[in-house]
Amino acid sequence: MRFIFIGPPGAGKGTVAKILSRRFSIPHISTGDLLRAHIQQKSELGRQAAAFVDQGKLVPDALVIEMVRTRLKEPDASQGYILDGFPRTVEQAEALGKILRDEGMVVEHILNFDASNAKIIERLSGRRICSKCGEIYHVRNIPPKKEGLCDRCGGELIQRKDDSEDTVRRRLEVYRRETAPLIDYYNRMRLLKDLPADLEVAELNPILDQLVK
Ligand code: AMP
Repeated sequence: MRFIFIGPPGAGKGTVAKILSRRFSIPHISTGDLLRAHIQQKSELGRQAAAFVDQGKLVPDALVIEMVRTRLKEPDASQGYILDGFPRTVEQAEALGKILRDEGMVVEHILNFDASNAKIIERLSGRRICSKCGEIYHVRNIPPKKEGLCDRCGGELIQRKDDSEDTVRRRLEVYRRETAPLIDYYNRMRLLKDLPADLEVAELNPILDQLVK
């Protein structure tokens, strides 16, 4: 099963991706996570991407497309995957379409995470990430059992640098300008399913069951 998740930062894409990844035993491929790993490892790609990510701007299409093309060839992606944060531009969507056609593959579900600005700001300001395994928490909505520590692996919970207020504002602008046009792009192909992403995870679960059965 192949999924594409479209939606602004803070809409819950990562949280839902982790749920469906466990349910269907397919990898959660987040381009943001891949880029952050490259930046941490100081790879050539990481060096080129760092300034864009830090400022909340999009990393150039050519770099991201190549990174995704390579990732999708890995054996764990052969039975499906959840693409979270890619495509983010029409050029990326077209490149993905070509990769899929070349491999004779289809995407079964394209979900549009429809979230209000107020909800996004609330989520991102309280979001905490496990520095070891990437599990996502929220200080009020999804608190860990022990403050500051991940329930799954005991790793330290941190706030992402680009979740600061100014950078969030920039990321939202970039989303509306560069990524929102994808909603029309996939709607025209009659592929998009809307998810009311202001709802919290427990309320979303039954809707997800309906959408992806
Ligand atoms: P995310 O974790 O999805 O919020 O992504 C964090 C940052 O990584 C974004 O603000 C961009 O700088 C960069 N990024 C992630 N995915 C892409 C993409 N598909 N195209 C360009 N830049 C991306």
